[in-house]
Amino acid sequence: MDGEDFRHWAHEAADFAARYRAGLREKPVRAGTAPGEIAAALPATPPEAAEPMADIFADFERIVVPGMTHWQHPRFFAYFPANASPASVIAEFLTSAMGAQCLLWQTSPAATELEQVALDWLRQAVGLPADFTGVIQDSASSATLCAFLTMRERALGFTGNQAGLSGAPRLRVYASGEVHSSIDRAAWFSGIGADNLIRIPTAGRLRGMVPAALEAAIRADLAAGFRPAGVVACVGGTSIGAMDDVAAVVEVAHRHGLFVHVDAAWAGTAMICPEFRTLWAGAEGADSIVLNPHKWLGVQFDCSAHFVRSIDDHLRTMAIQPEYLRTHGQDDIVNFSEWTIQLGRRFRALKLWFVLRAHGLEGLRGMIRDHVRWSQDLAARLAAEPGFALASEPVLSLFSFRHDPGDGRDLEVHNLALLRVINDGGAIYLTPTRVDGRFAIRFQAGSMETTEADVAAAFDVIRAAAHALG
Ligand SMILES: *Cc1c(COP(=O)(O)O)cnc(C)c1O
Repeated sequence: MDGEDFRHWAHEAADFAARYRAGLREKPVRAGTAPGEIAAALPATPPEAAEPMADIFADFERIVVPGMTHWQHPRFFAYFPANASPASVIAEFLTSAMGAQCLLWQTSPAATELEQVALDWLRQAVGLPADFTGVIQDSASSATLCAFLTMRERALGFTGNQAGLSGAPRLRVYASGEVHSSIDRAAWFSGIGADNLIRIPTAGRLRGMVPAALEAAIRADLAAGFRPAGVVACVGGTSIGAMDDVAAVVEVAHRHGLFVHVDAAWAGTAMICPEFRTLWAGAEGADSIVLNPHKWLGVQFDCSAHFVRSIDDHLRTMAIQPEYLRTHGQDDIVNFSEWTIQLGRRFRALKLWFVLRAHGLEGLRGMIRDHVRWSQDLAARLAAEPGFALASEPVLSLFSFRHDPGDGRDLEVHNLALLRVINDGGAIYLTPTRVDGRFAIRFQAGSMETTEADVAAAFDVIRAAAHALG
């Protein structure tokens, strides 16, 4: 592709992107594709000869786009938001055009320094103190794994990387049952093991772990010869938005010298609004915090912000300097590849910087406040509607509900059918969860394009689907 062709197709891509965004409201939110349908439309073998870009682009529009679920759709109320604001999409294009590699300061100095500045802006925006240092991770799962590795190394006196874990004391990590599955996987991958991830009972409307139960579990483990290493505090659990009392968790954990990691992947973004910070009060005492600008904040996936308090412990765990990566004579610089699992690193700070500037904190706060208010209004309307009941109260913009037609039918089967009717209709998209062991339908508002009317439309769709099922 020569320079003129590149310019032409980049323009075509921009036109597609603008057309796609403008047409989203008319499309079903979820792809109606059957498994295998897209693969069957593609040749089974790779092309030997070069193909014209026009054919590739046409196939993209014909085969790929209809098989997409539209995460930027204004009535996407499933899972969690994954906003790609236009400003971040443009930044991503520029990043991609430069094909930047950001492993070391010297491999892209601007990328490293912009990452430092943009994350410090974000730290200030969510009200964390200046002793936290930020690094961009590909995802919350990776940040959590790094936190588990640091927990492990701290608890083993930084011997685990060298000596391995066989023969080492058996480590313990504590979390509630509300944490995301990335916590379980971090326990697997760090060698700590699922059997040593101890579930602490929860209580209250926000289903936070009971601090006295955490204390008791740590004491029991110490008495039994285990070595407690850390605690994961949940700020906005994925199922129903569960919130631990972070201050109480930190107090218990630090009394025993344990490391505290806060998983605020979704809810952490809301902390740009000072009025929501009570939800993570005490986070400033944690050792590690992850929140995802690639969810609610509008930064195109992927961009996960990991704030670390003791960068020394983090680097002692993560950093390695073979000769070919040494940057002799540059002692004051940061080489972010020493902070993360990947060596090669994308230039993700550019899109965070674009978003913070293009929207301003006030713009982003306004969006989040709207989502929270609209979602809470919807929860109240559903709760007042005959046959509907909330399965979990709203936490920020997330709640769950069930429908009971009152004729004694199996509510698991009925609510599953209700969800299917809602989603097959295509006007909105919701996903399931379990609350107290029972099936429930989950709602969250978080798409940047969502309006109050879209949330109101969800009420009509949900009620009509329930009536359709009798
Ligand atoms: C989304 C989410 C995750 C996983 O995030 P990734 O960035 O996709 O790894 C982890 N924890 C919570 C609470 C989440 O909401």
